[in-house]
Amino acid sequence: MPLVTTTEMFKKAYDGGYAIGAFNVNNMEIVQGITEACQETHSPVILQVSKGARAYANHTYLIKLVEAAVIENPEIPIALHLDHGDSFELCKSCIDGGFTSVMIDMSSRPFEENIEETKKVVEYAHAHGVVVEAELGTLEGVEDEVVVEAGQASYTRPEEVEEFVTRTGCDSLAIAIGTSHGAYKFRPEQCTRNEKGILVPPPLRFDVLEEVSKRLPGFPIVLHGSSSVPQDFVAMVNQYGGNMPDAIGIPEEQLRKAAAMSVCKINIDSDIRLAMTANIRKHFAEHPEHFDPRQYLKPARAAVKEMVAHKIINVLGSNDKI
Ligand SMILES: [Zn+2]
Repeated sequence: MPLVTTTEMFKKAYDGGYAIGAFNVNNMEIVQGITEACQETHSPVILQVSKGARAYANHTYLIKLVEAAVIENPEIPIALHLDHGDSFELCKSCIDGGFTSVMIDMSSRPFEENIEETKKVVEYAHAHGVVVEAELGTLEGVEDEVVVEAGQASYTRPEEVEEFVTRTGCDSLAIAIGTSHGAYKFRPEQCTRNEKGILVPPPLRFDVLEEVSKRLPGFPIVLHGSSSVPQDFVAMVNQYGGNMPDAIGIPEEQLRKAAAMSVCKINIDSDIRLAMTANIRKHFAEHPEHFDPRQYLKPARAAVKEMVAHKIINVLGSNDKI
């Protein structure tokens, strides 16, 4: 099937109590690892591209890689989404260039400006058969070159969501309930430590999610910054010459709970980076004589595939939903 929008995916996910994984792609190995996992687990998927990824790999290369994945996996519904569009022009360029979904992120702007800019993108996107994700509330952390300092983030205010969705006409809404971008989602002083000395983060604000869902029945909610930062990858990075002390993510059981509620899209990027980097580091440590990129990218790609399959089955619940 050709690239699809997220409309049908989200409807089924909402009704079925699961979520679709939105995985960030930058290169061939990541596209292959993700889509091979989806093929094996029979899961729909959102491949998403950030402004930074587009600058790194070039729009045409990314589009052609995703088109190749569509051809190789004909029975898997695949949507191509712009992650964190920061202007109408960027969104328009992706809509004109073959994306089936875009995000316009004006969450750092005042409420009225967020509505105006989002509405403008929605009008253009809908006229071209493309869906739009918007955002209310801001997340902490690092997303490409955008850094939101601790203390500058704010939870979504449930009392704003109905007016925002009605006036903008957006198709899905990203909210801030305590997830965060990057591999260091929480400072140690925000956390407790378990008996192994590993940081335990504060729980997500499910009360905010519940209130938002009550006000927007049937409407798909999106969680950004939802990597779990698996501690075995962090340990592997550190064992083989890396230095990532106290890297920490969102516990998988909390994401599973959100997926069973109104959350229909869960964004995962850092875990892909960690899977690749941990395995490349390990490979070089064990095979210092290797210099063919295929030798170390092959296990890195396999690790991405295994990690994504695990997410699909154990966190998202989107397996066997095609
Ligand atoms: Zn994000």
